[in-house]
Amino acid sequence: MSAELPGVPPSDDYPIRCRKLGQLIHYGYCCRENQGLPCARTLDCWYPFFNVAEYLRGVLSSEEWAVAFTTPAQPKLLSLVEMIERAQKNVNKT
Ligand code: SF4
Repeated sequence: MSAELPGVPPSDDYPIRCRKLGQLIHYGYCCRENQGLPCARTLDCWYPFFNVAEYLRGVLSSEEWAVAFTTPAQPKLLSLVEMIERAQKNVNKT
């Protein structure tokens, strides 16, 4: 029988290796990475360290959960194109 996991995230001095960024990252980053919502991989990355699903069910609304975990991720190229378009619009406003 395995030990019971903590119910809250570890403090920000407890980093894990991020598969997306290839560097050490703390939960405080992961839980806001997606425009203020958790990174779509948060459940996969943090489940060995605390009861992340139960914790996030308690702090996110059902709409926030859906946006964070059930909305398909955009391909990186599409995200990049959108960022460039937004930057161009901002330049044109000035
Ligand atoms: S949840 Fe996202 S940002 Fe955090 S470690 Fe995993 S892939 Fe990286």
